[in-house]
Amino acid sequence: MIPRVVTVAGSDSGGGAGIQADLKTMLALGVHGMSVITAVTAQNSLGVQGAWELPVEAVRAQYRSVVDDIGVQAVKTGMLASAELVEAVAELISGTDAPAVVDPVGVSKHGDPLLAASALDSVRTKLLPAATVATPNLDEVAQLTGVRVESEDDLRRAAEAVLAYGPRWVLIKGGHLPVEAGRAGGSQAVDLLTDGSSEHWLRARRHDNRHTHGTGCTLASAIASGLAKGLTVPDAVTQAKEYVTGAIAAGFALGAGIGPVDHGW
Ligand code: PLP
Repeated sequence: MIPRVVTVAGSDSGGGAGIQADLKTMLALGVHGMSVITAVTAQNSLGVQGAWELPVEAVRAQYRSVVDDIGVQAVKTGMLASAELVEAVAELISGTDAPAVVDPVGVSKHGDPLLAASALDSVRTKLLPAATVATPNLDEVAQLTGVRVESEDDLRRAAEAVLAYGPRWVLIKGGHLPVEAGRAGGSQAVDLLTDGSSEHWLRARRHDNRHTHGTGCTLASAIASGLAKGLTVPDAVTQAKEYVTGAIAAGFALGAGIGPVDHGW
């Protein structure tokens, strides 16, 4: 049977990030994608013009409908908007016998908040402990742990700080490291995957493409797709990094602002 993956995330009306990026990634990687929508955003290449969260009951009902009948081999979470939703989703994924990839989405590339500040503590104490793999970027690491990453060595400190909250694995995405940050900057995007005992450094060529909307959603969904197919966490992350690197290289202009990564490459 085809592996099944559910994304629990927000809708991006512009089709570049969120649920829409997740489902495109899952289609491209040969798994059956399903969606539990947590919030609806009015969004385009210029930013987020509005956001409305769904009632907790609507989120729970979507999740139960999918998991109880169709079943899932992996779960991915993205934009969760509020403390109430974070806590409900943490409880749902804790009670599901499938690996969970948690993308602790905080702020969009345009600086629009996708998570209430009052929800940060619930992310730390409820959501991260339920994660098989957490995938914070450097801004999210700083927000959640206070660790500011400025060099490749700091990535290890960041990973330890996130692992202290209890996810089985953490993937620190160093793609936003400044170019002047020595080995980590320049022509490479460096990520660190670790479970506290093994370390995997992932390096990919940095593409000079500004059309990167949806990168984080795509990466987390690609990891979940790999896990649903039975890959180990390091193998799923390695394949996902290859997928997102290709999608970034093929990112294209849409609208007047930042265009999306491309899933048809
Ligand atoms: N919109 C939604 C619904 C998202 O889930 C996300 C990221 O997770 C974004 C927007 C932000 O995308 P980006 O920062 O890649 O522009």
